[in-house]
Amino acid sequence: MLSLERIEEIKEELQGLSPEEQQKKFQEIIQSLDPEEREQLTGKQQCPFCLMAKGEIPVKKVYEDETLMGILDIRPANKGHTLLFPKEHHKMLSTVPEPLVAHMFTTANKLSTAVFDAMQAQGTNILVANGPAAGQTAPHVLINIIPRFTKDKVVIGWDAEKIDDTEMEKIAGSIQSKIPKEKAKITQKKEMQSVREDFSRIP
Ligand SMILES: [Zn+2]
Repeated sequence: MLSLERIEEIKEELQGLSPEEQQKKFQEIIQSLDPEEREQLTGKQQCPFCLMAKGEIPVKKVYEDETLMGILDIRPANKGHTLLFPKEHHKMLSTVPEPLVAHMFTTANKLSTAVFDAMQAQGTNILVANGPAAGQTAPHVLINIIPRFTKDKVVIGWDAEKIDDTEMEKIAGSIQSKIPKEKAKITQKKEMQSVREDFSRIP
């Protein structure tokens, strides 16, 4: 079996090559695989979430608009566990266009309230797993909306690591340096504005 990462890697290897080079490279790769892997690569296995979006796999739908679909998870963490995903195929959130990301999270927030009310829950988790290390098992980006109850069996937790101030400062700087400058500025401005608005409300 090829891992999803390997399939993506192969796609990336082929991208940017001329059609002739692409064909040659593809043949090389195909020859190094076993029959099952070949079938995976030649596209006979399709993304189940893309098929659900096209109506080719039956689902229990809770939400649909032009770009998104929300369904009940068939193996829920708790009853009412909802999956929200874009109809176009994206493996991870990082490749989803920004307006669609915004629409996904606005909708996830609405669904969270609806799930909370419908299931008479005591809380919700809104969760995205980016990559296998983070627990991603689906080949398609998903937002999990999980209704939570004080005594349920869902575990989302960690043992806190120790970290000193110097290291935190270094990490904060490193993360800041990876944020595209333009976007960081806009966010800061907005934040400042909302802080001012908050202050102006104080009598
Ligand atoms: Zn898909």
